[in-house]
Amino acid sequence: MTDRIDWPADWNIERLHDDHLQGLRITTEFYDSATEHQRIRVFENPTFGRIMTLDGVVQVTEADNFIYHEMLTHVPILAHGNVRRVLIIGGGDGGMAREVLKHDSVEQVTMVEIDDGVLTFCREYLPGISDGAFDDPRLDLVIADGAVFMKENADLYDVIIVDSTDPVGPGEVLFTDTFYGHARARLAEGGILVTQNGVPFLQGEELTNTMRAFRALFADATCYLATIPTYAGGPMAFGWGTNGGARQTDLATLRARFDSAGLATDYYTPEVHQGAFALPPYVARLIP
Ligand code: SAM
Repeated sequence: MTDRIDWPADWNIERLHDDHLQGLRITTEFYDSATEHQRIRVFENPTFGRIMTLDGVVQVTEADNFIYHEMLTHVPILAHGNVRRVLIIGGGDGGMAREVLKHDSVEQVTMVEIDDGVLTFCREYLPGISDGAFDDPRLDLVIADGAVFMKENADLYDVIIVDSTDPVGPGEVLFTDTFYGHARARLAEGGILVTQNGVPFLQGEELTNTMRAFRALFADATCYLATIPTYAGGPMAFGWGTNGGARQTDLATLRARFDSAGLATDYYTPEVHQGAFALPPYVARLIP
């Protein structure tokens, strides 16, 4: 159906879903080319600023990335309370590393990104997203398939963040039971695995599949929510898996840790942190 519509050339039409499109006007195009893994496009939109899409799907925008990156980092790190080593799978735009590295307690971050092209073009066209993270001496950048790294790596991490594309193309292997099993083996005592797990209203099956795997691997398996305007379809789910008690961290402790970390945030607060785990029935029903 949509293939018969001649969309104006100055719009990016996201076709992640079969019958639900998202269009974003392009005022300036900075880059549009393919690597061996995916098509990378970087353009400017009047509302969202600079945007990167991979295979036509919005990955990050200057205007709303703070929500996604704050919630996938500060929630597990402040809940845990003593994070020293973090692993990021994906995260090529550098936003996840940016937020993790704001924590002085974090001594070492390993970021495993499959596509060197994403790093190169985000450094050049979206420098504000990484905001110097790529030059932080605590960051080790690895160009590899995250699934292979997770299987072969022997280190342990306090927090593992899967900041991948959706389960199509190179990201597909990052949504498998095998990958999650390998990730659990890489978690230190009390460690937490968090994942980008799509928009439940449109990608409910993706969340159910991840939660089914998490329920088999972790004593505490659930998800939490935040709404990022350019991830169309409503709140996004973040998978949460741990065999520790971090989710029970009380508000006063979260507040003390937040204040001590000296974080300047535009979305995360300890109250938002706790509220994010309150799931509406239509999402809770997706968790087996
Ligand atoms: N915020 C975005 C979202 O929610 O969809 C994710 C952004 S980040 C740019 C996604 C990154 O995952 C991309 O840089 C992509 O190259 C990377 N990626 C995809 N599959 C991967 C894999 N198997 N191993 C490592 N990185 C992968």
